[in-house]
Amino acid sequence: MSLRETLIAQITAQGPMRLDAYITTCLLHPTLGYYTSRQPFGMQGDFVTAPEISQMFGELAGLALAQSWLDQGAPAPFTLAELGPGRGTLMADLLRAGAQVPGFAQAAQITLLEAAPALRDVQAQTLSAHAPQWIDSITDLPEQPTFLIANEFFDALPIRQFVREGTRWRERQVGVQEGALAFGLGPAQVQPAFAQRLQDTQNGDLIEDCAAAAPILTTLATRIATHGGAALVFDYGDWRSLGDTLQAVRDHRPTGPLDAPGQADLTAHVDFEALLRACTACTPSRITPQGVFLERLGITARAQALAATLTGDALESHIAAHRRLTHPQEMGNLFKTFALVPKGVAMLPGLDI
Ligand code: SAH
Repeated sequence: MSLRETLIAQITAQGPMRLDAYITTCLLHPTLGYYTSRQPFGMQGDFVTAPEISQMFGELAGLALAQSWLDQGAPAPFTLAELGPGRGTLMADLLRAGAQVPGFAQAAQITLLEAAPALRDVQAQTLSAHAPQWIDSITDLPEQPTFLIANEFFDALPIRQFVREGTRWRERQVGVQEGALAFGLGPAQVQPAFAQRLQDTQNGDLIEDCAAAAPILTTLATRIATHGGAALVFDYGDWRSLGDTLQAVRDHRPTGPLDAPGQADLTAHVDFEALLRACTACTPSRITPQGVFLERLGITARAQALAATLTGDALESHIAAHRRLTHPQEMGNLFKTFALVPKGVAMLPGLDI
């Protein structure tokens, strides 16, 4: 049975499905889910992420984290963690650059939060020299200084969508119409959690809510506040959610979110205001465009140094990668960065409080 048939049978038997349940099933169904059943990354896959575009991304991010580790007295041992590490490329690049900082790589205990067993296998291969450990939940992070990175993790967490009707909200659901998956709206209900959104929305507006993100960040911020450390997060989105940002990508092309369950990546823009609201235990940086952050860290100098060793097609694609990561019309502006550090501790280089 395909995932589409499974979903249609389930909805027919049990009624319309919440969007967050639909997304979780599409991405992480044990055998038919998108991340559990395929290798989505890279040119052969469905989409390309920043660490897969160029080694420069992980190198600079890694050195920013290593600087924070130095600023906090070089604690050893410490947890070097990643949320949703994909193929392990970002962690590998980070560790290679971090090896330039005496003691950093030796003191790092690599801990990865990854839901997909197939991707854990790939990460085990990429990082075999570093003996990584995997955890199933953020609460399993060891109680010690924790330096953490996450790229395109929060956009993969399931969202719910609500359409305003008067002072109430109707939840967008996945139902079945004439034998096919179709969106519909549930009954209008008062939603005390969105009371403040009545001030900046109008009748008919759609807002998104990612309930899974806040507890992850609250746990993380508390760990960092208690034991020291830092978090460096990259993702795409904006300050406050407004409008439908759920998108499906298959084979580098957009498709409908209901068109290919389990065969397309499903993501939504990250609501950075909601993320930061969960981090009050720490000092957050400003939300900073990825291009600005990478330029401040010296990506142009690093790009020039690497370019000196390249010719022909390799040089062309290196120049294109630099542009793609930083240019405002490519990933430079849509993608944002922020970091968390304990209160009273120096912020990571390249970011302001
Ligand atoms: N950071 C990588 C991959 C981003 S894709 C990169 O930049 O290339 C999202 C990653 O998060 C994948 O590894 C996916 O399997 C993982 N993931 C998605 N939902 C998850 C969840 N709920 N818990 C843990 N990992 C999850």
